[in-house]
Amino acid sequence: MRCIFCDIAAGILPSEVVFETDDVIAFRDINPAAPVHVLVVPKEHIDGIAVVDQTHTAVLGRLMLAAVEVSKSEGVAGDGFRLVINQGREGGQTVGHLHIHLLGGRQMRWPSG
Ligand code: AMP
Repeated sequence: MRCIFCDIAAGILPSEVVFETDDVIAFRDINPAAPVHVLVVPKEHIDGIAVVDQTHTAVLGRLMLAAVEVSKSEGVAGDGFRLVINQGREGGQTVGHLHIHLLGGRQMRWPSG
């Protein structure tokens, strides 16, 4: 299945990439909700967090490690940041390709709404 984030991962669609490995790419959100708003995305198409199984264990670990790496390179690791995965309609997911939002650079509120 091909989608907008597959096209970004393949370099077909432009994006502001801040981190990349063989299986993970991270780029700035086009509509940032915070001073730092980066999407951490597996290059492999996965519809969302609800469909992962044990075959995804390695890539899920790499996604989390990438998010922490980007928090450091974006300068928000010290003051704190938030990682968010939206799943499905009620979860607010609008792009059907698994991604972690890394949000930082301002005080986060809770509950997130
Ligand atoms: P979600 O609503 O959790 O599925 O998050 C999707 C995110 O992708 C939103 O925050 C959008 O602003 C962002 N987005 C959509 N298209 C692009 C794009 N071409 N480049 C960067 N971010 C995008």
